[in-house]
Amino acid sequence: MSERIFRLFDTETRTVKALVPSEPGHLRFYSCGPTVYSYAHIGNFRTFLTADLIVRTAEAIGWRVSYVSNITDVGHLTSDDVADATGDDKMERALKSKEGEQFQNVWELAGHYATAFQQDWDQLGLKRPLVWPRATEHMREQILAVEKLIADGFAYETPTGVYFDSATFARRGALSGNTELDNLKSGARDVVLDGNKRHQADFALWKKDDKHLMQWYSPWGWGFPGWHIECSVMAMAYLGETIDLHGGGEDLIFPHHECELAQSESLTGKPFANHWIHTKFLSVEGEKMAKSKGNFFTVRELVQDKGIHPLALRYALISVPYGKPANFTMDLLRDSEAKVMRYDECRRVVESAIERGLPGPDTIGQGLNELYEAALTAMLEDLNTSVALAKALEGTSTIFKEGTTMSVASAQSALGYLKNVDALLGIVPFESTSTKSVDESAIQSKVDERNAAKAARDFPRADAIRDELAAMGVELRDTPEGVVWRLKTGVN
Ligand code: AMP
Ligand code: ZN
Repeated sequence: MSERIFRLFDTETRTVKALVPSEPGHLRFYSCGPTVYSYAHIGNFRTFLTADLIVRTAEAIGWRVSYVSNITDVGHLTSDDVADATGDDKMERALKSKEGEQFQNVWELAGHYATAFQQDWDQLGLKRPLVWPRATEHMREQILAVEKLIADGFAYETPTGVYFDSATFARRGALSGNTELDNLKSGARDVVLDGNKRHQADFALWKKDDKHLMQWYSPWGWGFPGWHIECSVMAMAYLGETIDLHGGGEDLIFPHHECELAQSESLTGKPFANHWIHTKFLSVEGEKMAKSKGNFFTVRELVQDKGIHPLALRYALISVPYGKPANFTMDLLRDSEAKVMRYDECRRVVESAIERGLPGPDTIGQGLNELYEAALTAMLEDLNTSVALAKALEGTSTIFKEGTTMSVASAQSALGYLKNVDALLGIVPFESTSTKSVDESAIQSKVDERNAAKAARDFPRADAIRDELAAMGVELRDTPEGVVWRLKTGVN
């Protein structure tokens, strides 16, 4: 394979630039994961899907990817958006809520939501990271990092905790433009004033708190780490002191990633991440998602409760390139579901053609390869998913056109195409990702029986079979290559 260039927008330089692994062909990538105090929502998954597409695109050009995505199970406070967070720990607050009553303690709550999160992840077909490290499992590294920052003069202890001294860091604001020590830009949100801090921009590395539900013993007494330090130490533990790419949602630029950057580079004296990527937020029906507005969807609500095909949700969430704000609507979901079902039908047409085994040349392989190349090229150009999805979908028309006359050679190329598209975008329903387990051959034989009844002009029998299939949740459709079936889905 010739050398391919993978270009992505970089938040720090504000340009689309080539992603260059420091070890050629091996990408070291850290992407911030969820705080496991409740079920993940579809906005969270828009961001996780960006990371997934990066991994898939890098692998498609032959790179090895060491991908790490953490699980935050302590220290993320309710007002985390300010430079020095205050408020309750999100985990503690969840335990006191109505849903929290089912858990004996905060550890159990974290375990429950972490498991649920991983199920959602698998269901939407995201590739698993090399490791899903948890903040609570890396306490020793966090305490050692804070100790070193104090020893080297980058942090100081106060009666309430340990703070990073922002005045010591020259590259302050590299990502967000928040260079001021005291008058932090509004829009980057208000800052809580804490009399114990030297400057507003100083942020907590350790919070002293012997009442906290999750607490550890440290050189500064009982307490818990600030939210940001976990990502610095876990990224370095698994990926080394300088990583190739660091990502998350756009709200993480400030303060979370800015703080990670400052403390990491102060710890090592080396660049922390060579490339930063941030996903723009997802809104729903044109509005910011909020439980109070009734436009807040968790993945499991849509998939488990409403029976939406998980790949339809995935398709909808990746349909707008990550760098543009996206609007999730029921129309978009419906449209995405139709496309996923089209791939499903296409796969079955191809599988039938392989079984049929007609001789003849491969007439479509080259055209399909060109379409795949066009989709991959779009992904390599700052993950242009809208072009990539459109190009990939064109291939299904090529395949449908061949229909029942497709040679086995063409069918093998078509199957290869669908597998490549799936490896790149994760949108073709090969069985393992379906929510419903169905006996495809039993359905197909009913369809064949109905075709035979129709040919014999036994219409009552044909209608009865259609009804029988409908009761099984199967819809029939007439296409140029005959009657095809698909499962009815949950979007109304
Ligand atoms: P959290 O669980 O709050 O720590 O968030 C996990 C990830 O989801 C972070 O990278 C957030 O930036 C991202 N995120 C949160 N809300 C949205 C949204 N509406 N759209 C896209 N990403 C989001
Ligand atoms: Zn993080």
